[in-house]
Amino acid sequence: MLLEQIIANNQSLQPYEYVNTEIAEDGQRLVLHLASRKDTAEERCPYCKGHVHILGSLSMRLRDMPVYTGTRQDLEISYHRYRCQSCARTFCEEIPFRHPETRISERAASWISSFLRFNIPISTVQKITGVHWDMIKRIQKQIMDEAIADRRRKLLGEGYKPKRLAVDEFAIHKGRRYATCVMDLDTGDVIWVGKGRTKCS
Ligand SMILES: [Zn+2]
Repeated sequence: MLLEQIIANNQSLQPYEYVNTEIAEDGQRLVLHLASRKDTAEERCPYCKGHVHILGSLSMRLRDMPVYTGTRQDLEISYHRYRCQSCARTFCEEIPFRHPETRISERAASWISSFLRFNIPISTVQKITGVHWDMIKRIQKQIMDEAIADRRRKLLGEGYKPKRLAVDEFAIHKGRRYATCVMDLDTGDVIWVGKGRTKCS
């Protein structure tokens, strides 16, 4: 079963090739080792589109979604560092299954997102997944940013114009400072937020 899963992973991770699986002595952790086999002919300099050669290999460990409950799973990825033959600049190969700017895999990020979308608290998601609070918080912010961007696109597409506005202030920084918020009274959409209190004169 595990082998089948690994083979399935291997097929979906090309041009990364499965190398081996390391199982910790206590059996509570699996590390899947993957290595890039990408040919330099398939890579171009991102700055000038020149041909490149391999300068060396680097490795990165990503937290992955576990195959078995209670068993931590990581991906240890070996990837290339290149040098451009035209402009001599160096750059690293992209790891397509890495969630951007994090040390977790895309499927681990999807796994965490699936909990957050059901409004499960971060502390509970942390207990279930074992992923650090800050990382879960970052994914939660990405989900919120996407939802806000979707809503904005929808409203702009409909030629949105608010009819009735509401203004309110709320405490931030543990009550030491305030922010003012302008909302659409009918839909509840937040239209504007600014630091400081409202001034009526
Ligand atoms: Zn170049």
